[in-house]
Amino acid sequence: MARKHSKHDPYRDQNREEDDTPIAAVNCWLCGRPTGRTIVWHHPVPKSRGGRDVVPMHPICQQTLIANFTNSELQRFGMDVEGLLLNPAIRKFVDWVANKDPDFTAPQAKKQR
Ligand SMILES: [Zn+2]
Repeated sequence: MARKHSKHDPYRDQNREEDDTPIAAVNCWLCGRPTGRTIVWHHPVPKSRGGRDVVPMHPICQQTLIANFTNSELQRFGMDVEGLLLNPAIRKFVDWVANKDPDFTAPQAKKQR
């Protein structure tokens, strides 16, 4: 599980070699797009069901999962993202979100542009 380090901590710089995992190249577990500024560490198996693995996701992708599946269903699928993608609602969402900006989140109210 990735722990957040403060962005710039001069006291840590000497130890940087041990900690140069690039943060940028993370792809969303569900839609496969690179994640944006906000990465949600999602439990494919809900924590309340004993799930310990986490996967990076867009906030909007996690919201969509939670909106479409119950905890029991999520537990059943577990790490099987292919199974989740067989769900028509998820499939449709992933196709739709494919062209959106990584930082795109569903606006509550429509924005005028
Ligand atoms: Zn995503």
